[in-house]
Amino acid sequence: MSNDNPEINCELAVIGTGMAGVAAAMFASNRGVSTVQVGLTSEIIFASGLIDLMGVHPIADGKTWENPWEAIDALIHDIPKHPFARINKDDIHKALEEFLVFMNDAGLPYCRHKNRNAKMIMPVGTVKHTCCVPKIMWNGVLALEKKSPCLLIDIRGFRGFSARQITETLKASWPALRNARISFPNTEYLEEVYTEPIARSLALSENRKALAQIVIPHVKDAVMIGFPAIFGINDSVKIYRDLQDLIGVPIFEIPTMPPSITGLRIKEAFETQLPKKGVRLLLQKKVLNVHPNKDGFVLDIGGPDTEYTVNAKGVILASGRFLGRGLHADRKQIRESIFDLPVFQVGERKKWHSQNFLDPKGHSINMAGLEIDNMFRPLDSSGKPAFKTLFAAGSILAHQDWMRMKCGSGLAIASAFAAVNAFKEQVKNPRSKDLALICPSKGLPDTLG
Ligand SMILES: Cc1cc2nc3c(=O)[nH]c(=O)nc-3n(C[C@H](O)[C@H](O)[C@H](O)COP(=O)(O)OP(=O)(O)OC[C@H]3O[C@@H](n4cnc5c(N)ncnc54)[C@H](O)[C@@H]3O)c2cc1C
Repeated sequence: MSNDNPEINCELAVIGTGMAGVAAAMFASNRGVSTVQVGLTSEIIFASGLIDLMGVHPIADGKTWENPWEAIDALIHDIPKHPFARINKDDIHKALEEFLVFMNDAGLPYCRHKNRNAKMIMPVGTVKHTCCVPKIMWNGVLALEKKSPCLLIDIRGFRGFSARQITETLKASWPALRNARISFPNTEYLEEVYTEPIARSLALSENRKALAQIVIPHVKDAVMIGFPAIFGINDSVKIYRDLQDLIGVPIFEIPTMPPSITGLRIKEAFETQLPKKGVRLLLQKKVLNVHPNKDGFVLDIGGPDTEYTVNAKGVILASGRFLGRGLHADRKQIRESIFDLPVFQVGERKKWHSQNFLDPKGHSINMAGLEIDNMFRPLDSSGKPAFKTLFAAGSILAHQDWMRMKCGSGLAIASAFAAVNAFKEQVKNPRSKDLALICPSKGLPDTLG
């Protein structure tokens, strides 16, 4: 630790700027906790913008669920160590509500069905069960449900989205679906066009007018029109409404393959709004070392050398799995990168992956991660909390395969909510050994809708 580095005192340090990290920083600031957040660019930039809660269980059967809450009940019954088993359902509801209020205030409103997953068209024509859908994509959910006469727009030279493929895949069950290919304004001479520049170009009203003029001749009998996700980055709802008025037919976005702008919207919303709520962001910085002391933790932050010293009473570790670099696999074992915490892993290395890359059961390495107690505190090798005020959230948690279970952002948000509340309780009542956060509640009212 160098004495020349600026020293920052806070109650809570959040490590990670992925979905779990941003949610934790938001929940903490909503509770008046002084918070520092540190991290590099996360998986958020790849995200589709959809918030999955629970879609598939058991993975091996590929069973999809209409009702995510019933899916969570079944999951907890079969995998009692899944992190959802440590959060009562009422708190999962509250976490989602609070997250969606934040997103709405940040200009990214969401829609959802009451207690029912929405079915969403994906960029290659598959249909995905998800919980919360950006408002500017919601007409696509309704169009798919009603099988309305619908036009999907392809853009010449645009990669990662094929209206033609979606139409081919879905037309047996949706005969009134068709597609048309257009040139995006001012890109006629380009062989390839990329999402971010065309999305940013729609911030200008003349470009929206030009796009509408190109699309209108293709509308014909369509009562809905789907576009790849290109409706701007910071002003997406305004762009969507304006384009819809210009074309005169309800429109919607479909997520594109990464790199997409849907994740960029979420990233920019948090980076703009969190500092306004008092969160100190140390972006594109790493936690280089952590020293526990009697008051909590001292974190050396920077990259490659220490630039800041942060003194925090508690830490939320939301450093992700392998892509986020929260976990690291060597020839023999999987390690946690910052605290060297024990990692749950299934046997020796040769058992981590199935011989079949596309094994419907998935790969056991995707259940690796941190074991936690009921307060979301990582456990040491003796099975006790490693530190009183160290909590973990998101994909670093063990016993869940978020990608196959379709629970990525929902789990990140709910576990961040539980971890922040547990931190608050622990700081308020440091003698409390354990808190009754557990017990998936049966029969609690479903209040979403
Ligand atoms: C391609 C893709 C598509 C997705 N689509 C969906 C979807 O449709 N619906 C859905 O619900 N979810 C989706 N997700 C998942 C979701 O967006 C989250 O990314 C996922 O749940 C994991 O989030 P996380 O915050 O736990 O970890 P990550 O996003 O991996 O973030 C980890 C963070 O920790 C930081 N970190 C690690 N080590 C350090 C260190 N030493 N110092 C400082 N910071 C550190 C990293 O820099 C990063 O910021 C998708 C993810 C991907 C990759």
